[in-house]
Amino acid sequence: MYIIECWIEHPIRKLDQTFTYYYDREISTGVRVMVEFNRQKVIGFTDKCIESCLSIKELEEIKGYKVKPVLQVLDESSLITQELYELAFWMKNKTLSTTISCFQAMLPAKVKPLMNQHQIVYEDFVKASNTQVELTPKQLEAYQYVLRHGELRYSDLRKNYPNQAKTLIDKSALVRFSKEKTAEVKRSEYIEKPLKLTSYQKKAYQEILGSDDSIFLLKGVTGSGKTEIYLQLAANAIEKGKQVLILVPEIGLTPQMIQRVTRRFGHQLAIYHSGLNPQEKYEQYKMVKDQKAKVIVGTRSSIFLPFHDLGLIVMDEEHDDSYKQDVQPCYHCRDIALKRADYHHCKIILGSATPSLESYARAIKKVYHLVRLEQRIYTNLPSVSVVPLKKAIKANESYIITRTLYDKMQNALDKNEQVILLLNRRGYHSMLRCNSCKEPVKCPHCDLAMSYHASERALKCHTCGTKIPVPQKCPNCESSEGFSSYGFGTQRLEQEVKHYFPNARTLRMDADTTGRKGAHEKILRSFGNHEADILLGTQMIAKGLDFPDVSLVGVINGDEGLSRLDFRSCEDTFDLLMQAAGRSGRSDKKGEVIFQVFDPDHYAVVCAAKQDYDGFFQNEMKFRHLGMYPPYTYMISLTISGNSEDEVQKIALMIKENLHGEYTILGVVSLLKIKDRHRSRIILKGQNLDVMRNDVTRMLESHPEISSKSLQIDVNPTHLE
Ligand code: ADP
Ligand code: ZN
Ligand code: ZN
Repeated sequence: MYIIECWIEHPIRKLDQTFTYYYDREISTGVRVMVEFNRQKVIGFTDKCIESCLSIKELEEIKGYKVKPVLQVLDESSLITQELYELAFWMKNKTLSTTISCFQAMLPAKVKPLMNQHQIVYEDFVKASNTQVELTPKQLEAYQYVLRHGELRYSDLRKNYPNQAKTLIDKSALVRFSKEKTAEVKRSEYIEKPLKLTSYQKKAYQEILGSDDSIFLLKGVTGSGKTEIYLQLAANAIEKGKQVLILVPEIGLTPQMIQRVTRRFGHQLAIYHSGLNPQEKYEQYKMVKDQKAKVIVGTRSSIFLPFHDLGLIVMDEEHDDSYKQDVQPCYHCRDIALKRADYHHCKIILGSATPSLESYARAIKKVYHLVRLEQRIYTNLPSVSVVPLKKAIKANESYIITRTLYDKMQNALDKNEQVILLLNRRGYHSMLRCNSCKEPVKCPHCDLAMSYHASERALKCHTCGTKIPVPQKCPNCESSEGFSSYGFGTQRLEQEVKHYFPNARTLRMDADTTGRKGAHEKILRSFGNHEADILLGTQMIAKGLDFPDVSLVGVINGDEGLSRLDFRSCEDTFDLLMQAAGRSGRSDKKGEVIFQVFDPDHYAVVCAAKQDYDGFFQNEMKFRHLGMYPPYTYMISLTISGNSEDEVQKIALMIKENLHGEYTILGVVSLLKIKDRHRSRIILKGQNLDVMRNDVTRMLESHPEISSKSLQIDVNPTHLE
């Protein structure tokens, strides 16, 4: 008999342990099994398997409870590697999550050990049998077609030989069998040769290759040719027979990166992102595991793919928020990437025009090797003008498209050049406020003002998605005096643009126009083909795009983000302005950028206008030091949520009482209700992260009643609302 220890999804944190079952054969670590737990069939994840000469009865006597058998073994071999197995435990300790949640984060949905099972898809294949049979000439041709392929999808044979396929099987010339469905490696039509590196690129490339260091921060303005360096470093690693992982923030927003990687490595490429369906994900996963893919381009979760021999990890736009997972386990992709690079003894390149403060601080301290790439490939940096909105409003100009912006737009359009307008807020008006009590109309499920969407004549909550018609009476004071609108979003901007430039062709890109699969790509392709003159949208248009015909970028309400109460709001605003500016003048055309802002003297605006990252860094580090924010301290945020306000408050206070050590505790702070859940937060802030982690772990161990659903732990949170 074999004693099987396996992990099972369990809502009680305290029960973060394996459960014991028995089986008559050996099962390897990482294989999923079907077991009974609490009278339910659930999927477990095998941890250990120990051969034992005990009888079941003896085992039960030792354990003191009834031990059940494994009902079914679900995988032929382990889904993860030894490295990933160990990584799960490391991650659980770093992020203070449950072990099973770490295994779940690692595996594609298809094979996640969850309560319900996803089926693996099988396909029919054919191969020649050993039986000698007489065949007609056409049947022989079909038979030889199969012989040439060795194994062939039955559907392929049917397509080419519709009248022979079935007969050959009936005659036993071919045997039909089923096999797990796998992805076909895509063959790119043509493979593009690497570009000849400029002298700056060459210097950076050689500095990285020639160094014994392993962690590099490649800081280069947008358009300085970082991507080309990644591609050539990747080619170098592949030549040595290794795998390469290129991490990107969001696939839909980086179609050009995908295009370039596909052209270079199409024949050995896997692409992994959240837009794939579970079957597609699983197929890509297998391609990596079976080493059919050499280069993998993927978003956050691709950091958990089962690589065998990584030769390089590239993390493009390393400062991007989407690398941080905001649900349990709240891991940062960068931390995992550094860990995996260390395991594989490979180099890791963190690339950005605006590195995160944490990474740049480390690079300055020489923890990371800093490589600079200051020159743009084509032209110099665009010229930036700042338009103060207060002045424009006083002069009775439009506060959406000021006179200056209007003139520059007209100028660009006259020359048949393209314009990008960025407004980081969707909808029509930001909110409707009651004329009597002045309260905004709030979402019934969240304590947040709803946005008015003119096209649907409805109010929408951008947090939970609730949509309601504009109410007849104020939900707060019941007055029927009506509402006034405040603020504006991309829909209103679009209307304004159409009003001022009736002949220009306009595209809008925001969460409302990109809901369907492939919608991003369609809008970007269309703009890339110059089928429109103006592209307007939210921050999703600020990232990674490279359109040679764009000569003007306007940022509307560019400093709106500064009003957010978050220690990162200046950094986010600066990044947004820098990214937006990077979209202009990417080819031989001179680029221009306009920031419309309320506070033209704020250092985030001033430094972005000068494209001065280092200046911003110094100012921002002073601010962080004053407030003792990261990177000067570490934080752990504990968010308690539940259906009753009292209950949430009670648990929060209890947690707070049970925490003590050499660190500061901030809160309990009540947060806004979201999706009908009341929330409170406690923040631990201190110099020693391990001390804080250990204290939280101790607290959790002494309070098993705290369920994982009611407490979300975020170690090193990137944002605090
Ligand atoms: P980044 O990744 O830093 O934003 P890219 O690698 O996208 O910069 O380069 C910007 C543009 O310059 C792209 O259109 C790219 O094709 C082109 N480019 C990059 N390197 C070279 C080179 N060595 N020779 C010619 N063109 C180049
Ligand atoms: Zn009212
Ligand atoms: Zn809501």
